[in-house]
Amino acid sequence: MPVISKLRFIDKYKCIDDFKFPKGLKNWLKCPNCGLRPKVWVFDNGRHTACGCGKDKYNHFSIQAKSIMSYYYRNNNGTIDGYDSNELRDNWNHWVKTGKLRSINNGN
Ligand SMILES: [Zn+2]
Repeated sequence: MPVISKLRFIDKYKCIDDFKFPKGLKNWLKCPNCGLRPKVWVFDNGRHTACGCGKDKYNHFSIQAKSIMSYYYRNNNGTIDGYDSNELRDNWNHWVKTGKLRSINNGN
């Protein structure tokens, strides 16, 4: 792909620089609205997606999943055993296929 069109492609994403392409990107379905596979931001207290949908990089559409710290604090053992690292991808693909959000129960 020529450099110019590659840049244009990346430019379509509405998100801050913390969002990166996930591993196994081809396993993430394309957004039905903008046609992009999502970038993701995974940090201790949250997991979010970003695609081309939204107003700007601070105000955009996002699918979320339980954060690893929320899982840790809610788990009786105080461990991350059983933490589902694929949950964000599953939530994203579920939304693409059905148009509905899975409940994430992030436990506030
Ligand atoms: Zn989109």
